[in-house]
Amino acid sequence: MNTSEVPDTITCVECGGTAHRVSYPPPDEGFLPGDIVVFACEDCNHRMDLVWEGTADDDQ
Ligand SMILES: [Zn+2]
Repeated sequence: MNTSEVPDTITCVECGGTAHRVSYPPPDEGFLPGDIVVFACEDCNHRMDLVWEGTADDDQ
């Protein structure tokens, strides 16, 4: 399952606070490489759109 590889929280690039994932994967597929994963900071509300690049050991 790719989903478990995507973190629920990241560190905010603006203030160093905790940014929570606000986008959810399709239930059947999980996040796929190239999908946009959105995080929002709980402290400053800064929004970060990250491209999920998958994991290094993904099957080819
Ligand atoms: Zn922040």
